[in-house]
Amino acid sequence: MLRVGLTGGLGSGKSTAARMFAEHGAYVFSADEIARGLMEPGEDVYAAIVTQFGSAVVKQDGSLDRPALARLAFAGGRLEELEAIVHPATIARQTELIEEVVSRDRNAVTIVESALLFETKHCGEGGWQKRFDRIIFVQATEERKIARFIARTSSGRTLSSEERMALEADGRQRLAQQADGGRNAAHCDYQLTNDGSPDQLRVQVDALWPELERLARDSGAAEARYNS
Ligand code: ADP
Repeated sequence: MLRVGLTGGLGSGKSTAARMFAEHGAYVFSADEIARGLMEPGEDVYAAIVTQFGSAVVKQDGSLDRPALARLAFAGGRLEELEAIVHPATIARQTELIEEVVSRDRNAVTIVESALLFETKHCGEGGWQKRFDRIIFVQATEERKIARFIARTSSGRTLSSEERMALEADGRQRLAQQADGGRNAAHCDYQLTNDGSPDQLRVQVDALWPELERLARDSGAAEARYNS
């Protein structure tokens, strides 16, 4: 098995690259999706958020008002409080999901996609170094990341110039709050550059996949020897 962390800033193309790896057979988990699931009513994380942030972040139907929560966290300077609730639970769930896959498939390549892979406060003992065997960094220029964030968020709708400016400011603020690119790149084993077309990204994913598969197989074989 191989536990891969896939990181990069907002809009860099992590999810796109992750989908391409999944087509090759990787087991892909998105930290955002896991966190979203844990924020559903009935989950401990949901209850802790409501206790901490109050009824202003709850919609009439009982679900979390995510934009209101994001405003409090990002613009209101309460991101650390939110992360202290969401990150440990998300990391624990990731670990469970990976263990479950590996128990079924010894040669699995598992990939966790997260913008905040190197976030250290809530990583648990040993930090991210202990949770991942290899790290892939998806690199793109800031302007491209922002343009993609705006396009994805507006999902094709025509924006007024005020809406566009507000989204751009939001994107830049979120990017600034994510771990800086230099630090990311320094920790990474592989870098994918996503400044061109999706096909240009795919070529890089296709080139890297055999190496990941080989590392997973080698580790699976070593484990089989150890267990025999
Ligand atoms: P991330 O997961 O890093 O936030 P995504 O993979 O969701 O980024 O990409 C952000 C948006 O940009 C998505 O709508 C995606 O389809 C689009 N996108 C990603 N890579 C490219 C590319 N090379 N060319 C054009 N659009 C892209």
